[in-house]
Amino acid sequence: ATPTALMVGTGRSAKMGVLIKNGQALEEVNMVKTVVFDKTGTITAGKPVVTDVIGDQTKVLQVAASLEESSEHPLANAVMAKVSDAKVAYPKARDFKNIEGKGVKAVVNGEKASIGSDKLLEDYQISNQMKTKMAQLQNDAKTVVLVGLSGKIIGLVAIQDTPKKTAAKAIAELRSRGLKTVMLTGDNQRVAQAIGKQVGIDQVIAGVLPNEKADHVKALQQSGKVAFVGDGINDAPALTVADVGIAMGSGTDIAIESGEIILIQNDLLGVVRALDISKKTFNRIK
Ligand code: ADP
Ligand code: MG
Repeated sequence: ATPTALMVGTGRSAKMGVLIKNGQALEEVNMVKTVVFDKTGTITAGKPVVTDVIGDQTKVLQVAASLEESSEHPLANAVMAKVSDAKVAYPKARDFKNIEGKGVKAVVNGEKASIGSDKLLEDYQISNQMKTKMAQLQNDAKTVVLVGLSGKIIGLVAIQDTPKKTAAKAIAELRSRGLKTVMLTGDNQRVAQAIGKQVGIDQVIAGVLPNEKADHVKALQQSGKVAFVGDGINDAPALTVADVGIAMGSGTDIAIESGEIILIQNDLLGVVRALDISKKTFNRIK
């Protein structure tokens, strides 16, 4: 494309809230075969809310609060909001340890406690009743965190984060243009499948640890150019490795720095807009 065509292209997209940092990114969008999305904060609104507490509510929320008080994870914020609503008092934890992509460990009232995914709490005893309940909640597209104390799972906290209003439309538009759509998430397979179904995504890759996201993008690049859309600190490597990195305007600074295209309004339809403008810009001047 001529420099003028490029300027027209990037200018037109900026008016629609799609900031394109360089001409190469605009050109490459047109050649992408697969669009990979992070789940939390990218496909979903990123405003998780606690919907269910299983077990002795006061006890479960007390231990959960002690553990999550020092965490900055979005799920921790949801738990703390629920604790505050329920006006539950809780003890200060000791030896707080954040386990990336899994949860939190600490000592609460002299007892070892954990909150997080089943990967973090796999050594804790869990009743069959609790297991069944967990699967039900996950099939309902709710993220379930387990609360463990002294070797036993004492309860579950279910957290809902609903898809953005335009997510399903954006994914349908991309698919109608012949692109493959993939969701990449650290969340559990059942939850990811349920949300994937709500938005009509082609493939779901769940249970991915933060340091594994970039490797999955590399694997998908075997079948053509890949765009990765994300918002978190842990999305930065994937945004860099992808042929086109697309960051949410609401994302963390490091995600915005790593992306070449920024969706200012956090609207996934921005991906479709960038694609269409790329097509126009690079077809015009042949
Ligand atoms: P995502 O890929 O959806 O952004 P993360 O990689 O941050 O998710 O976390 C993956 C999973 O680890 C979460 O779904 C949750 O089960 C667990 N987890 C991580 N941090 C916390 C926390 N502070 N409290 C509870 N659970 C957590
Ligand atoms: Mg995210």
